[in-house]
Amino acid sequence: MRIDLHTHSDRSDGTDSPASLVRRAHKAHVDVLGLTDHDTTEGWKAAADVAARTAITLVRGIEVSCRFHGDGVHLLAYLPDPAYPPLTDELARILDGRNSRLPAILHRLSDLGIDVDVTDVRAVSQDTAAMGRPHVADALVAKRVVASREEAFDRFLGPQAPAYVDRYAADLVTMIGTVREAGGVSVIAHPWAKRHRHRGLDAEGFAALRDAGLAGLEVDHLDHDQAARDGLRRIAADLDLVVTGSSDYHGAGKAGHPLACDTTAAEEYERLLDRADQAARAAGRSTPGIVVGR
Ligand code: AMP
Ligand code: ZN
Ligand code: FE
Ligand code: FE
Repeated sequence: MRIDLHTHSDRSDGTDSPASLVRRAHKAHVDVLGLTDHDTTEGWKAAADVAARTAITLVRGIEVSCRFHGDGVHLLAYLPDPAYPPLTDELARILDGRNSRLPAILHRLSDLGIDVDVTDVRAVSQDTAAMGRPHVADALVAKRVVASREEAFDRFLGPQAPAYVDRYAADLVTMIGTVREAGGVSVIAHPWAKRHRHRGLDAEGFAALRDAGLAGLEVDHLDHDQAARDGLRRIAADLDLVVTGSSDYHGAGKAGHPLACDTTAAEEYERLLDRADQAARAAGRSTPGIVVGR
Protein backbone atom coordinates (compact mmCIF):
# COMPACT_ATOMS: atom_id res chain seq x y z
CA MET A 1 0.00 0.00 0.00
CA ARG A 2 1.35 3.42 -0.96
CA ILE A 3 -0.35 6.04 1.18
CA ASP A 4 0.46 9.72 0.59
CA LEU A 5 -1.69 11.96 2.78
CA HIS A 6 -0.53 15.50 1.96
CA THR A 7 -0.50 16.98 -1.56
CA HIS A 8 -1.42 20.28 -3.24
CA SER A 9 -3.26 21.11 -6.44
CA ASP A 10 -3.51 24.39 -8.32
CA ARG A 11 -6.48 25.34 -6.12
CA SER A 12 -3.69 26.47 -3.78
CA ASP A 13 0.00 26.59 -4.72
CA GLY A 14 0.49 23.29 -6.53
CA THR A 15 0.63 23.20 -10.32
CA ASP A 16 -1.61 20.20 -11.21
CA SER A 17 -5.37 20.58 -11.40
CA PRO A 18 -7.16 18.43 -8.78
CA ALA A 19 -8.25 15.98 -11.52
CA SER A 20 -4.77 15.62 -13.01
CA LEU A 21 -3.28 15.24 -9.53
CA VAL A 22 -5.51 12.21 -8.90
CA ARG A 23 -4.62 10.73 -12.29
CA ARG A 24 -0.93 11.35 -11.72
CA ALA A 25 -1.10 9.73 -8.28
CA HIS A 26 -2.76 6.67 -9.78
CA LYS A 27 -0.02 6.43 -12.42
CA ALA A 28 2.56 6.73 -9.64
CA HIS A 29 0.98 3.67 -7.96
CA VAL A 30 -0.37 5.63 -5.02
CA ASP A 31 -3.22 3.66 -3.40
CA VAL A 32 -4.43 6.33 -1.01
CA LEU A 33 -4.09 10.03 -1.81
CA GLY A 34 -4.74 12.93 0.53
CA LEU A 35 -5.60 16.22 -1.20
CA THR A 36 -4.75 18.99 1.26
CA ASP A 37 -4.71 22.37 -0.43
CA HIS A 38 -3.90 25.37 1.74
CA ASP A 39 -7.04 26.84 3.36
CA THR A 40 -9.55 25.71 0.74
CA THR A 41 -11.80 22.79 -0.20
CA GLU A 42 -12.25 24.04 -3.76
CA GLY A 43 -10.45 21.07 -5.28
CA TRP A 44 -12.46 18.44 -3.43
CA LYS A 45 -15.23 17.93 -5.92
CA ALA A 46 -13.14 17.60 -9.08
CA ALA A 47 -10.73 15.27 -7.27
CA ALA A 48 -13.57 13.12 -5.93
CA ASP A 49 -15.21 12.85 -9.35
CA VAL A 50 -12.02 11.47 -10.89
CA ALA A 51 -11.13 9.30 -7.90
CA ALA A 52 -14.54 7.60 -8.03
CA ARG A 53 -13.68 6.38 -11.58
CA THR A 54 -10.05 5.48 -10.79
CA ALA A 55 -8.50 2.66 -8.77
CA ILE A 56 -7.43 4.96 -5.96
CA THR A 57 -8.76 6.06 -2.57
CA LEU A 58 -9.08 9.79 -1.95
CA VAL A 59 -8.95 11.38 1.48
CA ARG A 60 -10.14 14.95 1.31
CA GLY A 61 -8.43 17.43 3.60
CA ILE A 62 -7.25 21.01 4.07
CA GLU A 63 -3.87 22.31 5.23
CA VAL A 64 -5.07 25.10 7.50
CA SER A 65 -2.78 28.07 8.27
CA CYS A 66 -2.68 28.32 12.07
CA ARG A 67 -0.67 30.05 14.77
CA PHE A 68 0.62 28.65 18.07
CA HIS A 69 2.71 30.62 20.56
CA GLY A 70 3.27 33.23 17.86
CA ASP A 71 4.63 30.83 15.23
CA GLY A 72 2.95 29.62 12.06
CA VAL A 73 1.85 25.98 12.20
CA HIS A 74 0.17 24.05 9.38
CA LEU A 75 -2.71 21.82 10.46
CA LEU A 76 -3.86 18.97 8.21
CA ALA A 77 -7.62 18.66 8.72
CA TYR A 78 -8.97 15.44 7.22
CA LEU A 79 -12.58 14.66 6.39
CA PRO A 80 -14.36 17.52 8.16
CA ASP A 81 -17.83 18.66 7.11
CA PRO A 82 -16.76 21.40 4.68
CA ALA A 83 -20.00 23.31 5.33
CA TYR A 84 -19.59 23.61 9.12
CA PRO A 85 -20.01 27.38 9.60
CA PRO A 86 -17.20 27.99 12.12
CA LEU A 87 -14.83 26.20 9.73
CA THR A 88 -15.98 28.02 6.58
CA ASP A 89 -15.92 31.36 8.44
CA GLU A 90 -12.36 30.84 9.58
CA LEU A 91 -11.17 29.66 6.15
CA ALA A 92 -12.77 32.77 4.62
CA ARG A 93 -10.89 34.93 7.10
CA ILE A 94 -7.59 33.24 6.21
CA LEU A 95 -8.22 33.60 2.46
CA ASP A 96 -9.07 37.28 2.97
CA GLY A 97 -5.76 37.68 4.77
CA ARG A 98 -3.98 36.04 1.82
CA ASN A 99 -5.60 38.44 -0.65
CA SER A 100 -5.01 41.56 1.39
CA ARG A 101 -1.35 40.66 1.94
CA LEU A 102 -0.64 40.58 -1.80
CA PRO A 103 -0.61 44.36 -2.42
CA ALA A 104 1.58 44.82 0.65
CA ILE A 105 4.16 42.34 -0.70
CA LEU A 106 4.11 44.01 -4.12
CA HIS A 107 4.60 47.39 -2.49
CA ARG A 108 7.68 46.14 -0.67
CA LEU A 109 9.07 44.67 -3.88
CA SER A 110 8.48 47.98 -5.60
CA ASP A 111 10.44 49.71 -2.81
CA LEU A 112 13.25 47.31 -3.66
CA GLY A 113 13.07 48.44 -7.27
CA ILE A 114 11.26 45.33 -8.51
CA ASP A 115 8.27 46.00 -10.63
CA VAL A 116 5.64 43.24 -10.33
CA ASP A 117 1.94 44.01 -10.27
CA VAL A 118 -1.21 42.11 -9.39
CA THR A 119 -1.81 41.29 -13.06
CA ASP A 120 1.61 39.61 -13.25
CA VAL A 121 0.76 37.48 -10.21
CA ARG A 122 -2.74 36.65 -11.45
CA ALA A 123 -1.22 35.59 -14.77
CA VAL A 124 0.74 32.82 -13.07
CA SER A 125 -1.72 31.97 -10.28
CA GLN A 126 -4.71 31.81 -12.62
CA ASP A 127 -7.78 31.44 -10.44
CA THR A 128 -6.21 29.92 -7.34
CA ALA A 129 -8.44 30.01 -4.26
CA ALA A 130 -5.48 30.50 -1.94
CA MET A 131 -3.24 33.29 -3.19
CA GLY A 132 0.21 32.96 -1.68
CA ARG A 133 3.87 33.82 -1.73
CA PRO A 134 4.58 30.91 -4.13
CA HIS A 135 2.51 32.73 -6.76
CA VAL A 136 4.49 35.93 -6.23
CA ALA A 137 7.60 33.77 -6.57
CA ASP A 138 6.29 32.37 -9.86
CA ALA A 139 5.69 35.91 -11.13
CA LEU A 140 9.28 36.81 -10.22
CA VAL A 141 10.46 33.74 -12.13
CA ALA A 142 8.31 34.70 -15.13
CA LYS A 143 9.85 38.19 -15.07
CA ARG A 144 13.33 36.65 -14.81
CA VAL A 145 14.05 38.42 -11.54
CA VAL A 146 14.90 35.03 -10.02
CA ALA A 147 15.44 31.54 -11.41
CA SER A 148 13.22 29.55 -9.01
CA ARG A 149 10.65 29.70 -6.21
CA GLU A 150 13.46 28.79 -3.82
CA GLU A 151 15.54 31.78 -4.87
CA ALA A 152 12.50 34.05 -4.58
CA PHE A 153 11.92 32.91 -0.99
CA ASP A 154 15.61 33.19 -0.11
CA ARG A 155 16.04 36.69 -1.51
CA PHE A 156 12.61 38.31 -1.07
CA LEU A 157 9.71 36.36 0.41
CA GLY A 158 10.99 34.22 3.26
CA PRO A 159 10.43 35.32 6.89
CA GLN A 160 13.89 36.91 7.12
CA ALA A 161 13.74 38.51 3.67
CA PRO A 162 12.89 42.14 2.84
CA ALA A 163 9.52 41.66 1.11
CA TYR A 164 8.08 39.38 3.79
CA VAL A 165 4.60 40.32 5.02
CA ASP A 166 2.72 38.40 7.70
CA ARG A 167 -0.92 37.42 7.32
CA TYR A 168 -3.87 36.22 9.37
CA ALA A 169 -3.76 32.63 10.66
CA ALA A 170 -6.22 30.71 12.83
CA ASP A 171 -5.55 29.95 16.47
CA LEU A 172 -4.25 26.36 16.46
CA VAL A 173 -6.05 25.09 19.58
CA THR A 174 -9.33 26.63 18.49
CA MET A 175 -8.95 25.17 14.98
CA ILE A 176 -8.29 21.67 16.33
CA GLY A 177 -11.58 22.01 18.23
CA THR A 178 -13.38 23.33 15.16
CA VAL A 179 -12.15 20.42 13.02
CA ARG A 180 -13.35 17.98 15.65
CA GLU A 181 -16.77 19.67 15.86
CA ALA A 182 -16.89 19.41 12.06
CA GLY A 183 -16.42 15.64 12.42
CA GLY A 184 -12.85 15.59 11.09
CA VAL A 185 -9.40 14.71 12.41
CA SER A 186 -6.31 16.89 12.78
CA VAL A 187 -2.65 16.13 12.14
CA ILE A 188 0.17 18.67 12.57
CA ALA A 189 1.98 19.03 9.23
CA HIS A 190 5.82 18.88 9.24
CA PRO A 191 5.95 20.03 12.91
CA TRP A 192 9.71 20.42 13.02
CA ALA A 193 10.40 21.65 9.49
CA LYS A 194 13.52 23.79 9.60
CA ARG A 195 12.04 26.61 7.59
CA HIS A 196 9.45 27.33 10.32
CA ARG A 197 9.89 28.39 13.90
CA HIS A 198 7.98 26.05 16.17
CA ARG A 199 8.77 27.06 19.70
CA GLY A 200 5.57 25.64 21.22
CA LEU A 201 5.82 22.27 19.50
CA ASP A 202 7.73 20.24 22.10
CA ALA A 203 6.50 17.20 24.04
CA GLU A 204 4.55 19.40 26.42
CA GLY A 205 2.98 21.41 23.60
CA PHE A 206 1.97 18.26 21.73
CA ALA A 207 0.42 16.87 24.93
CA ALA A 208 -1.72 19.99 25.28
CA LEU A 209 -2.75 19.74 21.61
CA ARG A 210 -3.59 16.06 22.03
CA ASP A 211 -5.85 17.03 24.94
CA ALA A 212 -7.48 19.61 22.65
CA GLY A 213 -8.28 16.81 20.18
CA LEU A 214 -5.22 16.46 17.96
CA ALA A 215 -5.09 12.99 16.33
CA GLY A 216 -1.63 12.80 14.81
CA LEU A 217 1.78 14.10 13.76
CA GLU A 218 3.24 14.13 10.27
CA VAL A 219 6.61 12.57 11.07
CA ASP A 220 7.95 11.40 7.72
CA HIS A 221 8.39 14.50 5.59
CA LEU A 222 11.37 15.70 3.55
CA ASP A 223 11.73 18.78 5.76
CA HIS A 224 12.59 16.44 8.70
CA ASP A 225 16.02 14.89 9.06
CA GLN A 226 16.45 11.49 10.71
CA ALA A 227 16.88 12.98 14.20
CA ALA A 228 13.65 14.97 13.87
CA ARG A 229 11.79 11.88 12.66
CA ASP A 230 13.12 9.76 15.54
CA GLY A 231 12.23 12.43 18.11
CA LEU A 232 8.73 12.99 16.77
CA ARG A 233 8.07 9.25 16.49
CA ARG A 234 8.97 8.83 20.15
CA ILE A 235 6.67 11.65 21.21
CA ALA A 236 3.84 10.29 19.07
CA ALA A 237 4.23 6.86 20.70
CA ASP A 238 4.22 8.39 24.20
CA LEU A 239 1.11 10.44 23.47
CA ASP A 240 -0.72 7.79 21.44
CA LEU A 241 -0.79 10.04 18.38
CA VAL A 242 -1.08 8.65 14.86
CA VAL A 243 2.13 8.88 12.78
CA THR A 244 1.75 9.95 9.17
CA GLY A 245 4.18 10.44 6.29
CA SER A 246 3.62 12.31 3.05
CA SER A 247 5.24 13.96 0.08
CA ASP A 248 3.76 17.49 0.35
CA TYR A 249 3.78 17.31 -3.45
CA HIS A 250 3.24 20.67 -5.22
CA GLY A 251 3.80 19.56 -8.83
CA ALA A 252 6.39 21.74 -10.51
CA GLY A 253 6.01 24.16 -7.60
CA LYS A 254 8.34 22.37 -5.21
CA ALA A 255 11.44 20.63 -6.47
CA GLY A 256 12.38 17.28 -4.97
CA HIS A 257 9.01 16.38 -3.43
CA PRO A 258 7.72 13.70 -5.85
CA LEU A 259 4.49 11.88 -4.99
CA ALA A 260 4.96 9.21 -2.30
CA CYS A 261 8.56 10.22 -1.54
CA ASP A 262 7.41 9.70 2.06
CA THR A 263 4.39 7.58 2.94
CA THR A 264 2.10 6.57 5.80
CA ALA A 265 2.05 3.00 7.20
CA ALA A 266 -1.20 1.11 6.56
CA GLU A 267 -1.82 0.56 10.32
CA GLU A 268 -1.41 4.25 11.01
CA TYR A 269 -3.80 5.12 8.18
CA GLU A 270 -6.37 2.72 9.65
CA ARG A 271 -5.99 4.35 13.07
CA LEU A 272 -6.52 7.75 11.50
CA LEU A 273 -9.69 6.55 9.77
CA ASP A 274 -10.95 5.02 13.04
CA ARG A 275 -10.48 8.36 14.75
CA ALA A 276 -12.22 10.12 11.89
CA ASP A 277 -15.17 7.72 12.24
CA GLN A 278 -15.38 8.41 15.96
CA ALA A 279 -15.19 12.16 15.38
CA ALA A 280 -17.86 12.03 12.68
CA ARG A 281 -20.20 10.05 14.93
CA ALA A 282 -19.62 12.31 17.93
CA ALA A 283 -20.13 15.46 15.85
CA GLY A 284 -23.25 14.15 14.16
CA ARG A 285 -22.38 16.14 11.05
CA SER A 286 -22.44 15.20 7.42
CA THR A 287 -18.78 14.41 6.75
CA PRO A 288 -17.40 13.64 3.29
CA GLY A 289 -15.86 10.22 4.02
CA ILE A 290 -13.16 8.69 1.87
CA VAL A 291 -13.79 8.07 -1.84
CA VAL A 292 -12.95 4.48 -2.71
CA GLY A 293 -12.55 4.47 -6.46
CA ARG A 294 -12.56 1.48 -8.78
P1 AMP B 1 2.09 31.44 2.07
O1 AMP B 1 1.11 30.34 2.36
O2 AMP B 1 1.65 32.34 1.01
O3 AMP B 1 2.54 32.16 3.29
O4 AMP B 1 3.38 30.70 1.48
C1 AMP B 1 3.89 29.60 2.18
C2 AMP B 1 4.02 28.42 1.25
O5 AMP B 1 5.11 28.66 0.39
C3 AMP B 1 4.37 27.15 1.98
O6 AMP B 1 3.22 26.46 2.36
C4 AMP B 1 5.16 26.37 0.96
O7 AMP B 1 4.27 25.67 0.11
C5 AMP B 1 5.83 27.46 0.15
N1 AMP B 1 7.21 27.73 0.56
C6 AMP B 1 7.65 28.13 1.78
N2 AMP B 1 8.98 28.31 1.79
C7 AMP B 1 9.40 28.02 0.54
C8 AMP B 1 10.69 28.01 -0.09
N3 AMP B 1 11.80 28.34 0.58
N4 AMP B 1 10.73 27.67 -1.39
C9 AMP B 1 9.61 27.33 -2.06
N5 AMP B 1 8.39 27.31 -1.52
C10 AMP B 1 8.28 27.66 -0.24
ZN1 ZN C 1 2.12 25.00 -0.33
FE1 FE D 1 2.89 23.15 4.98
FE1 FE E 1 1.74 21.43 2.29
